[in-house]
This record gives sequence, C-alpha cells and structure tokens, in this order.
Amino acid sequence: MNITDLKGVGTKRTHALQSVGIFSVEDLLNHFPRDYDDRSKVKKISELIPEAVNTIRGVVAFEPESANVGRKKFSLTKVIIKDQTGVLEIVWFNQPYLKKYFKKGNEYIFTGMVRENAKLQMLSPDYEPASETLLSGGRIVPVYSPPPQFSQKTFRALIYQALQHAETFEERLSAEIRQKYKLCDRETAIRNIHFPENNELFLEARRCLVFEELFFSQLALLQIKANVQAEQGIVFAALDFAPFLAALPFAPTQAQARVMAEIASDTGNGKRMNRLIQGDVGSGKTAVAFAAIFLAAKNGFQSALMAPTDVLAAQHYTQCKKLFALFGYETVFLTGANTAKERRQILQKIENGTANIIIGTHALIQEKVQYHSLGLCITDEQHRFGVNQRLALSKKGVIAPHVLVMSATPIPRTLGLILYGDLDISIINELPPGRQEIKTYCVNSSYRERLYAFIRKEIAEARQAYVICARAEHGEDSDVQNVISYTQTLSAALPEIKIAYLHGKMGDKQELTAAFKAGEIQVLVATTVVEVGIHAENATLIIVENAERFGLSQLHQLRGRVGRGTAQSYCVLVTDSKNEQTRARMKAMSQTCDGFKLAELDLQQRGAGDFFGTRQHGLPSFRVANLYSDLGVLEEAREAARGHSPFSPLYFGGNIVTSL
Ligand code: ADP
Ligand code: MG
Repeated sequence: MNITDLKGVGTKRTHALQSVGIFSVEDLLNHFPRDYDDRSKVKKISELIPEAVNTIRGVVAFEPESANVGRKKFSLTKVIIKDQTGVLEIVWFNQPYLKKYFKKGNEYIFTGMVRENAKLQMLSPDYEPASETLLSGGRIVPVYSPPPQFSQKTFRALIYQALQHAETFEERLSAEIRQKYKLCDRETAIRNIHFPENNELFLEARRCLVFEELFFSQLALLQIKANVQAEQGIVFAALDFAPFLAALPFAPTQAQARVMAEIASDTGNGKRMNRLIQGDVGSGKTAVAFAAIFLAAKNGFQSALMAPTDVLAAQHYTQCKKLFALFGYETVFLTGANTAKERRQILQKIENGTANIIIGTHALIQEKVQYHSLGLCITDEQHRFGVNQRLALSKKGVIAPHVLVMSATPIPRTLGLILYGDLDISIINELPPGRQEIKTYCVNSSYRERLYAFIRKEIAEARQAYVICARAEHGEDSDVQNVISYTQTLSAALPEIKIAYLHGKMGDKQELTAAFKAGEIQVLVATTVVEVGIHAENATLIIVENAERFGLSQLHQLRGRVGRGTAQSYCVLVTDSKNEQTRARMKAMSQTCDGFKLAELDLQQRGAGDFFGTRQHGLPSFRVANLYSDLGVLEEAREAARGHSPFSPLYFGGNIVTSL
C-alpha cells in the first residue's frame, strides 16, 4: 500500500508528507507521537473541574445556535449538551460550520478548557462523535508534530487509518533477544505507541522501541570500535619519558603517570590508539597530552592538537612552543586569525615536515592542510566537538594516526558509552597536590555591592578575579547582565582597579588573556569565552552573574577557572531566580566540587538533550529514547549488542540495515 492510497491524501498532502521524510506507510507509522494526552478519564458534567482541561461525553440537547457578535463581527457557535447529571454550554469562536455539524440527540466526546464565570462553560474543545472510534477523547491521545497541510486531528486520523491497513510488521530484533529482554512484538509496539490501549501497553511498546533504537546505535558503535581495533597503527618505539618530565615544572601525579604509560603502551603495540582521557577541570590533562606529543615527536611524527576555541588553542600553543623548543621541535599555530601570508608559511611547514607540532582550532580539519607525517591527533575538550570532526581530523594521515581525546566534562558512565563507545577510556582521578576546594556561595543581586568589596579585598591581596556575564552587549532582556555595561559600572565603583572585558566577538583575545595572566589586568569581565582555556593561577575569585542561565556542567567548568594555584579560591553565583531547579543547581554547586557527581545531577535535572548545550555536540539524538530516563534500557541494549557478533549480516559496510 502507498501513502497515496490512503483516504484524504492527494497531491498536496503527498508532497507535505514527503517534505518531512514520509514516503511510505511504514515511514508514516514510524512517525511517532511527540507526546500524549491522557483523556481516558471521561467525566460526568457534575464532576467537571473548572479552570482545567476536561473530557466529557454528552448528548446535544438543543439545535446548535450560531450568531455574529461584537463590533468585529466574530461568530459564536453554542451547543448545549446534557448527561444524567446536568447540562453544559460549549462555545466555539469563528467556526460557524459547527452549527451544522452537531446534530440534536447525537452523542459526542469533547475535550477542552472549562471556565467558570456565571456558569460553567467549555471553550473551543476537540470533539468527535461518540459512536465512532474514539481518536481524540476517551483514551490516551497521541500528540504529533504534524507535517504541513495537516492539523493535529487530521494527522492523527491518518495514522489511525494507516494502522488499520497495515498488515506486516517486520521484526527487527531476533526472537531470542525479544524473549531475553521481555520485549513485545513489533506490531504491538507500533500499534500502542500510536494509540495506546492502556498505560501498561504503552510502556511496553515504548520500551520495545527504545530498546530497538538503542540496540542498533550500540551495535554501530561497537562496529566502529571493532574497525578501529582491526586497523594497523603506527608503532611508536618505547622511550624514556625522563627528559620530558624533567622539563615540566612539576612532578606528575600518579594518575597522570598511569595515563602516560597507557598511551605509551597503546601506541607501541601495532594497533591504532583510540583513547579518551577524562579528568576533571584542572586535573592536568594537558601534561599528559604533551607526553604523547613528546613520544610522537621523538619517533619522528607530527602531532596535531585541536582545541574548540581560539583562546584555548592559543594557550596550548604558547605552552607547547616553550616546552618543545627545549627539545628542538617546532610548534605552529593555525587559526582563523592568521594573515594569508602567515597561513601560507604555516601550511608549507606542515607539509614539508618542518613543523613538528600543529596547534589550532577547526582550521586543522580543513581540506587544504596537508600533513607531512601525522602520527597523533589530539582533540581537547572533546565534548565540544562532534564525532564527525574528530573522525575528520584522524583521517588526515597516510596511515591512520593515533587518536587521543580529552574531556573535562565528566560524563556519567552510561552516557559515556554512547558518546564514546568507540573509545578506550582513561580517567585522571586525582588533582595535583596542594589544591584547595573552591568555596562556593550563592547570593541574590542585592549582594552586588558587597561583592565589589569582596573583589577589592582579593585584589588588595594581589589576587585576580573574573566576572562572568551571560551576554556580551546590552540586549532585549534588560534583567540579564552584559559584559559592556557591567564593566562600566564596576569601573565606576572600583576606579583604582584595572578592569578589562572580553567577549567572543572581540578580535584580539590572546593579547588580553596574556595581559590578565601577566597580572596587568586585575579583573576580567567576560562571557563564557573563558570557560575553557584561560589558566591564571593567581585568580582566586569568580563571580557568575545570572547564574540561572547556566547548566551545572557549565558552572562547574567556569568555576574551574579559579583554584588553579594553591591559594584558597571562591566562586560566587549570583541569581534572583526562585525557580526550583535553579535553586537545586545552586545548592549542588555549593555542596560539591566533584565534577562527576555534578554531571550525574545535571543529567537527572535536565535530561540528556541539554547536557551538552545543544544536540550537535556529538551526542546522537534519538526518536524515542531519552538518555536520562532510559539509562536502564541502554544498559540492556548495550549488553545485547555485545552478545551480537559485530560481523553478523546486520551489517553491510558499516551501515546498519534496520529492516531485517
Ligand atoms: P586540565 O585537565 O583542566 O586541562 P591543565 O592541564 O590545564 O588541566 O592543568 C591545570 C594546572 O595544573 C596547570 O597549571 C598545570 O601546570 C598544573 N598541573 C598539572 N599537573 C600538575 C602536577 N602534577 N602538579 C602540579 N601542578 C600540575
Ligand atoms: Mg584542559
């Protein structure tokens, strides 16, 4: 059966369906509801709850009336219905044709808002004859994102029609798996995801479809992993890290040393390294990355280090250049800010091998960059890049280079499986010695004057401070602090203090951050551009204005700007929000500095969709699954996928064939 065979689908609607990717009845049935409305409880008129949406069943008591009212001449259609317990007036505006639709003596189901003025009245409800199959009342009603040309009601009816004509529901999961994980058959799942007969069946249907979705995504990840593991890797000969470690200004922590050893082993065994280093802000991931670079360089290979922002890339560049100059290696910095001439020279050095270490932003994955002998690709702050970008960088070599990714965002283990299922994971679970817990407070804006005093006090002790604003410039929402105005106010309040500002649209961020690090600037008012990458050990205070506008992970990341030295540091979150979730976030922040704990909390609070800011950041988006509420199913799907041979006929060249 084709979609054009469905009643009510002509040329226009066929195009409309196709425009959202629905080409067949099967596609149509895979267009799941985005939500549900439980209208299964049908009330008596005497039980109606005013100022709420009610579903009611009643017989039309009189001939409907329709009249033009008011100066603007809108029409009002009035229907009086009755049941054993009373009568109710229902009105619609500007739908005069309804007068002919409702027949006196016939019974209908209505769902709509009930208002109580002089009497109870239902306003513009959904309606359908009680004698027909109930689609929009008296049941759990699906709510779709309807394609163009369809209303909620017409689309719902179309799905219902398609379900009636559908004959085959091909199973996608094997009988074994369905039995083991107690999953219903696909037909039950599809029918009940659209028109659930009851709540139990709905939950069963949903679980089955969530499982299916997660199962195939896990299989795909395992497949990628198997592919990478089967790949040949460049062999880095083992060497003594001692000269490298001697050049560092500190001794590595045990955790750092362990991860360095893991990298040495990964890169020396003939297979390709594909490793994620997870470590909280300030745990010292950079030194580990540099150890890997040292290993590559000593073995005669180039390393590329990609960072998500110019500020962070610049910071790595400065550090790297200084460190590796000691060993006679050249570091280059490729950024959007290079002049055409600089760029040409840098590209040439990369191509002829003069450049040993290449640092940059997304510029590194541009087609034009030709590497001479790329042996190692490092991506910093991985969570800010998508999987595709990571893969793009690692495709740059002749023989596949080793891959190392670093992430400060502590990711709950289960989510890590999805994001990084294709990677081996190392965790740096230790901070460098001497770090003190950052004291965190939450205040409202009435404390701002006192905060100025706090800033003054820290500056008087030769410390530095950050103030974070949600906006760069004055915007529409005047209750949100912006960098420009804040700087003006603060400069007026603290004229003796050297204050500067920084936001994403500014050109020379590097110069400013350098001045801040050098202590020439005492207070830096900035947007979240400083979220990653500025490392100023002397900064001991960070004030985050409009803290309600940031998620937990982001607040944690921002807080990581201070506490980088050995002095006691402070984080002050300013918000006037009384929102319960916001309060909970603030409380969590003031109670713990453990990024992993915060990540779990964040996940619970916001659901996985928001966790990474937006969905583009490498987290696959799912049609039915919700990574937060479906973590349990994810574990099962993962287990099932593992038990499945990755070379089963489910695969053709890495693409998943979903309709077996
Ligand atoms: P992150 O893991 O957030 O990238 P960084 O690599 O930027 O952390 O390190 C944070 C700071 O800690 C840097 O100033 C770095 O020099 C310092 N650091 C790293 N490892 C050690 C160590 N083992 N002992 C002392 N300081 C360290
Ligand atoms: Mg870092």
